Amino acid sequence: MKILALSDEVVDVVYSPRAKDRFADVDFVVGCGDLPFYYLEFVVTALSKPVFYVHGNHDRPTQYLSDGRIIDSAEGCIALEDLTARAPDDTGSVLLAGLGGSLRYNNEGIHQYSQGEMHRRALALAPKLLLNRVRHGRFLDVLLCHAPPRGIHDLPDRAHTGIDAFLGLMQRYRPRFLLHGHSHVYRNDVITATRYFDTQVLNVYPYRVIDLDRTYV
Ligand SMILES: [Zn+2]
Repeated sequence: MKILALSDEVVDVVYSPRAKDRFADVDFVVGCGDLPFYYLEFVVTALSKPVFYVHGNHDRPTQYLSDGRIIDSAEGCIALEDLTARAPDDTGSVLLAGLGGSLRYNNEGIHQYSQGEMHRRALALAPKLLLNRVRHGRFLDVLLCHAPPRGIHDLPDRAHTGIDAFLGLMQRYRPRFLLHGHSHVYRNDVITATRYFDTQVLNVYPYRVIDLDRTYV
């Protein structure tokens, strides 16, 4: 099972008429936040594959001036904020859960949370993950995030400090992957793949094709 993961930045190879050919072997797409809705809507249309996404701290409702509509979601895509799903469809074999947003660093963003709020969001997922365990023999395959876990691929400033609750989630539920963005990577010696217990934590900024059956780290 192959996926295309996107985060934080519109990239030309994806936002391109050739994307359909280039990513033809991808089973579904995930968005890890801070992506314009038009980009996700382009991808879902161009690739004709399901797109699951969580929000980043910069995501805002967008006003369409032509008719005054306020757009707060990507049309045709599946918002996975605080939810679980199966992919690529309702009968699919990949168990997903989503917890977007970042640590709170000012009063402006709607997708900002305290460490305590993140713990409560993680706790609220528990019943759905337990149900997965009963039905499918495992809690979770891929945890979709915007911010990284605390101490893994995070940065020292408050806005880019990682999330404590993700560590507990990985320890308890052992997903195979935690995918995140938020930490922009501008040098090729920056670590973007880290193992934590059974979980491969991957920074997908700005895009990454991931074979879910492969071991990266
Ligand atoms: Zn961010």
